[in-house]
Amino acid sequence: MKHTHSTGVRFVYDWYREFLERLIDADRRFRGFDDTVEDGDVLLRHDVDLSIRKAREMARIESEAGVRSTYFLLVSSPLYNPVEQETRRAIREIDSLGHDIGLHFSTHAYWPPGEEPSESRLRTHVRNERDVLEDIVPDLADTISFHIPPEWVLDRRFDGIDSTYEPAYFSRVDYCSDSRQRWRDDPPLTDGIPDKLQVLTHPSLWGDREQTFTECVQSAVAEATRRATECATREFLEERYSA
Ligand SMILES: [Zn+2]
Repeated sequence: MKHTHSTGVRFVYDWYREFLERLIDADRRFRGFDDTVEDGDVLLRHDVDLSIRKAREMARIESEAGVRSTYFLLVSSPLYNPVEQETRRAIREIDSLGHDIGLHFSTHAYWPPGEEPSESRLRTHVRNERDVLEDIVPDLADTISFHIPPEWVLDRRFDGIDSTYEPAYFSRVDYCSDSRQRWRDDPPLTDGIPDKLQVLTHPSLWGDREQTFTECVQSAVAEATRRATECATREFLEERYSA
């Protein structure tokens, strides 16, 4: 039987609610990425890598706690399509709960790892993908977040692109991320709450009951597969739709 770390994080909503309560009790202000960051500000960021349904669950929990955050959505994901009707509805619900919506941009969808594009090519693809989301959420956040960020995007300012990894939000604040559920061994806020803080969580890693990282990925894949199967069956396989 594996020993459970006594201070480690459990990736369940109850733990996340308590985490938010700690920040609220410390009088922290929850800001958006288009704001100037001041002492006492927290930037809550969610990169929606796997499941829009899980993102919506987290958005509801935060809304009940009176907390505002930013959800960054992929346009290039094989697991969800923001333009699809049901997903569009979920995105609008997250927006209507008072949260911000921004673009989660994958450089890997266009350039191999290690290849750094010109800023103008980067701007073109970012603009095209932002246009897709802006059609769904007109008040889209100006700031984008990079998916699995390559080294060349970190701690850098781009001309015409605001990023969650630029110095104002990254090296000049405390930054903590739940990537691959590393908080199990390295819990956040162990030395108290910093003056300026960016917190990144991935909603698909959280749930009512705890799952391993692999199980989270597998259940998101199963969900996407089930939805694709239902849709393809309805649109292509059932007799009445054949032309
Ligand atoms: Zn990502």
